[in-house]
Amino acid sequence: LCEDPSFWKDHNVQVIIRIRPLSSAEISLQGYSKCVRQESCQTVTWTGHPESRFTFDLVADENVSQEKLFKVAGVPMVENCVGGYNSCMFAYGQTGSGKTHTMLGDIEGGTRRHSVNCGMTPRVFEYLFSRIQKEKEVRRDEKLRFTCKCSFLEIYNEQILDLLDPSSINLQIREDIKKGIHVENLKEIEVSSARDVIQQAHSTNRKVAATNMNRASSRSHSVFTCIIESKWESQGVSHHRFARLNLVDLAGSERQKSSGAEGERLKEATNINKSLSTLGLVIMNLVNVSNGKSLHVPYRDSKLTFLLQDSLGGNSKTIIIANISPSNCCSLETLSTLKFAQRAK
Ligand code: ADP
Ligand code: MG
Repeated sequence: LCEDPSFWKDHNVQVIIRIRPLSSAEISLQGYSKCVRQESCQTVTWTGHPESRFTFDLVADENVSQEKLFKVAGVPMVENCVGGYNSCMFAYGQTGSGKTHTMLGDIEGGTRRHSVNCGMTPRVFEYLFSRIQKEKEVRRDEKLRFTCKCSFLEIYNEQILDLLDPSSINLQIREDIKKGIHVENLKEIEVSSARDVIQQAHSTNRKVAATNMNRASSRSHSVFTCIIESKWESQGVSHHRFARLNLVDLAGSERQKSSGAEGERLKEATNINKSLSTLGLVIMNLVNVSNGKSLHVPYRDSKLTFLLQDSLGGNSKTIIIANISPSNCCSLETLSTLKFAQRAK
């Protein structure tokens, strides 16, 4: 695995492929036959017909640990936010490909000191708070202060649900000069440690399970946002800055069949296809903009991209972790994920 010190150097968008291990169900169906072959730390070949080779910023195979992935992708993301810029990380892939494992992982054991399987989110927050502490020590003279507020929402069928307050549904996106683009009445909770964040995630999981809202978790996007506010003084002038850190576990990218579906199910399928393809277009355009070209960016065509508009583009950094299964069982879905990820390059 390459560790590239110039991770963000030229591009605001980084694309990582993560190949999970074969599952026992896949082994019993198709044995150990695989649809992908890793060529290098940046190249992977899809071995179907015709064979196709893809190049990304990083291809992480099953031997790449949660910790390693965090060091490669999570650390630069936090550094970017501590520097005052927005960051977004998306987990893309079909249901069962490892999105939640990547973003949340096993949080039972708490932070990484306790569990090797805990994922990006707990590691990001542990690192964020240790960075904040260091920054405060180094810049003691500037009376540097930080406040971190978290929110956690789900977009299901183009409706926004507040996961921290399951009684409020169908929240609206608003735009004003002071707050920028935001979700009206969304609950925000101040956190000051990674443990606070994990506790929130735990109690949210319990609440969500109790109200059975996640019956469609594979068909909804979950967005965890932390707003990092900093205030300091230098040479008699006070400064004030906001940075947003967004961690997004996307709806399953498997082709949502609209044929045969009716009513709610059809609407749901159409909405998922549309929001993932809009995300693809938006990201493709971010890449083109940094290459000097620009297209019309259809941010408002989906709630997800509208909501994240301020965190995509400009000085913001975006990381896409496209998760795939290596099994022959998933060959076509894996190809479609590789193609999506390729378009984001
Ligand atoms: P998704 O959220 O995309 O539907 P999950 O994250 O729930 O998929 O993963 C499906 C299963 O595969 C889970 O049991 C998970 O623990 C396992 N898994 C996924 N990725 C990995 C990995 N890199 N290493 C080990 N197990 C994994
Ligand atoms: Mg999941």
